[in-house]
Amino acid sequence: MSFSNLVKDMSFKDSKNSDDSRSTVSRPGLARSYTSTQATSVSIAGDIKSQLHAGYSHPLSRAWQAERQLTKAMLIYPIFVTDNPDEFTPIPSLPNQNRLGLNQVVPFLQPLVEQGLRSVILFGVPLAPGAKDALGTAADDPEGPVLQAIQLIRRSLPQLYVVVDVCLCEYTSHGHCGILYEDGSLNNAMSVERVSDVAMAYAKAGAHCVAPSDMNDGRIRAIKLKLIEEGISHRVNLMSYAAKFSGCLYGPFRDAAGSCPSFGDRKCYQLPPGGRGLARRAIRRDIDEGADIIMVKPASSYLDIISDAKDIAKDMPVAAYQVSGEYAMIHAGAKAGVFDLKTMAFESTEGILRAGAGIVVSYFTPQFLTWLDA
Ligand SMILES: [Zn+2]
Repeated sequence: MSFSNLVKDMSFKDSKNSDDSRSTVSRPGLARSYTSTQATSVSIAGDIKSQLHAGYSHPLSRAWQAERQLTKAMLIYPIFVTDNPDEFTPIPSLPNQNRLGLNQVVPFLQPLVEQGLRSVILFGVPLAPGAKDALGTAADDPEGPVLQAIQLIRRSLPQLYVVVDVCLCEYTSHGHCGILYEDGSLNNAMSVERVSDVAMAYAKAGAHCVAPSDMNDGRIRAIKLKLIEEGISHRVNLMSYAAKFSGCLYGPFRDAAGSCPSFGDRKCYQLPPGGRGLARRAIRRDIDEGADIIMVKPASSYLDIISDAKDIAKDMPVAAYQVSGEYAMIHAGAKAGVFDLKTMAFESTEGILRAGAGIVVSYFTPQFLTWLDA
């Protein structure tokens, strides 16, 4: 429809609806102003409401269209700490990521903190022969890498917020996330007891936030109760990996953390990829059990779950973990010339924020610290 026809059409509506106070075209002054521009004969495709370009024609007005802007404070950087003090080993399947010994942690993190890094999530990687056993004893070994790293970071980089992943799979000889019965099936009650003890050890060592990723039923309640009993529940954030799906996107992480199950898989405790209703139930359960933050993992293939999490946990922060396989895929795609790495890193992360997350666990964190300054 040409603009002049549109004006005629609107004038017609105006005369018909002159008593309709809700109609913008019923105001006489407005109708006259359209008529006065009739000579321009500007052609537009639809009615006035179809005109959106002005709202995003400038980089700043484009940014204003997002409900959440990516900021440095939203990012948590995963760090792998080994029991070999001087180790600094690149992880082949995770580009630009390394396994760090205790002596490397502060020199590695210091420049990132100066660039604005606010938070890390720690994973322990015991490499010493015999470090793993059926109970995951090394998880809360006072001489082990994670407990040492918590205290070291709190002492040396006091401005950094320390989140610690809580699980047994990096420390158990069988590589599963809990304690097993003799037949190899999961002993949920013992697993919850053990996982909550490990969480307490991290909390008492100074972790700001403990993040159980084991998916054993009832572990959030057990950890919360122990935090309350210990009198530290007011200072320790409890972030639940509430909706953690099983799948093939964890490969590079297991390579990094040495946590591949020696038999079977994790399907009895991680969620099936199609299980949207189950995820919603797990999220509700973990809120009821005392979680302070709800996490969804992986992120990009589960944006509907992130959206569900924000819907269910309206008054809580929602975190999403862009896992190792997602990160490695973006790197592989960029290397193959499919897209530009930085553009895709932003696009994927903005998608995660748009879905509802306000916290993103991301291997891109060091690069975002630079990119967000530009
Ligand atoms: Zn695990």
